[in-house]
Amino acid sequence: MKAKDILKNMKPYKPGKGIEEVKKEFGLNRIVKLASNENPYGFSPVVERELPKLIADLEIYPDGYGTEVRKKVANFIGVEDRQLIFGNGSDEVVQIICRTFLEPGSNTVMASPTFPQYRHNALIEGAEVREVPLVDGHHDLEKMLQNIDEHTRVLWICTPNNPTGVHIDQDTLQSALERIPEHVLVVIDEAYYEYLEAENAFDSIAALNEYPNLIVLRTFSKAYGLAGLRIGFGVGHPDVIQILEPSREPFNTSTVAQAAAILALDDQKFIEETVEVNHRNKKALMSFCEEIGLPYYDSQANFLLIHLPCSGDEMFEYLLTKGFIVRSGEALGLPNTIRLTIGKKEDMQEIQEAMKQKLASVQSQ
Ligand SMILES: *Cc1c(COP(=O)(O)O)cnc(C)c1O
Repeated sequence: MKAKDILKNMKPYKPGKGIEEVKKEFGLNRIVKLASNENPYGFSPVVERELPKLIADLEIYPDGYGTEVRKKVANFIGVEDRQLIFGNGSDEVVQIICRTFLEPGSNTVMASPTFPQYRHNALIEGAEVREVPLVDGHHDLEKMLQNIDEHTRVLWICTPNNPTGVHIDQDTLQSALERIPEHVLVVIDEAYYEYLEAENAFDSIAALNEYPNLIVLRTFSKAYGLAGLRIGFGVGHPDVIQILEPSREPFNTSTVAQAAAILALDDQKFIEETVEVNHRNKKALMSFCEEIGLPYYDSQANFLLIHLPCSGDEMFEYLLTKGFIVRSGEALGLPNTIRLTIGKKEDMQEIQEAMKQKLASVQSQ
């Protein structure tokens, strides 16, 4: 057997520790997972109530075009039906973009660290990956632009960026877009769009009218709380969507996911509440960090990247013994940091207490 050479050096995605695994290992009966930026308040109660109806007709293949969900989303964000492509999570849209545009001899430009799936999928397609280090948590757009040449096919922008949480403002991003040549597809990943509160936030949907080489990614996995169902989408110029469509599996989003997305979109009250409580709990965590002297990035998302006086792994291991699963920055390429999903108020108070204890023991060493 002979697989692609590049795969020899690649590892499968390593999920965070499983809840049951941690419970057993540390003899805990309750675990709080703050590692994958899921919604601690779950998902819309309307989806839960209607779920028995959603599982009717499962012997029938889904509507591969997602007619209903397409109409709903198009209406909601104010674009045409043919400007959308749905994926089994926006992860899959990333994969579809890479399958479509990247091959050996081509290159792709992205920040580092950023969402790892851009790099992962680009490598599998044999493209050269040009990574431009973040500056103070921000994309270095000028350097990213300098990395573009005639072989560049895709440039990735993640805003708010995972794992730093910072966003790119309207003027900065607009100015970059104006200078990106038209042969480059610009992907703007807005997985945390719903959490954005900055007044100068970039208006990506309006920009679609100006830039035909732009695609915006959104997901139902984060604020909508439907990560387990797997549905996300891309919005772009109809020509871009048409180019992508042959690379998409015909039935890539399930009947249940499509139906749930429609209901979830209708329940904007749930999203408003989610965003508000996230904001409050995030502010409280930021205040805690300031009190205790831990620098952090100014997050516009539902997580916070915090600098520590010890390694991220050390804090990760300690918090694990207290029943919290977080993400160590070591694996993300940001040493001496942890990335913490904003959880429920009571859990955040508890984790802050645990962090305080750990820091006291670090500082007394
Ligand atoms: C979580 C996340 C995604 C993936 O979301 P799915 O829709 O669940 O595949 C994409 N981009 C970023 C930046 C994320 O953090």
